[in-house]
Amino acid sequence: MITPSPQASHRMERLLGLLTKRHNFAGKLLGLIGIVMRASSMSMTIDQFEYDGCDNCESYLQMKGNREMVYECTSSSFDGVVAMMSPEDSWVAKWQRISNFKPGVYAVTVTGRLPPGVVRELKSRGVIYKSRDTSVKT
Ligand SMILES: [Zn+2]
Repeated sequence: MITPSPQASHRMERLLGLLTKRHNFAGKLLGLIGIVMRASSMSMTIDQFEYDGCDNCESYLQMKGNREMVYECTSSSFDGVVAMMSPEDSWVAKWQRISNFKPGVYAVTVTGRLPPGVVRELKSRGVIYKSRDTSVKT
């Protein structure tokens, strides 16, 4: 499990801030990215997931304060990120099928799938889990 140290995050933030001022906000958000949720592809650090849970999945997965669950439902291997500010009128959000999710930073593809038990649990609550793992053919 790779979580960037606060120092590394700050360096990254500064570096990204240098690239362009307009992307400053995105750069700040990118500095926070450590891991990504497999269910909703929400990107945060592992501590954030443990302290706050996932904005989108907390009611289903209860990751808050449950580090084991956080590890089970997250992945440190992902590709591409999109920062979503206003889900309702973002074409990117529609393209990524995240327009029903909270504003935040999302991964485009995620390596690894949710454990079968968690997928079953989601299904029993009417939530269909769509894997973003492009390395596995479905
Ligand atoms: Zn989530």
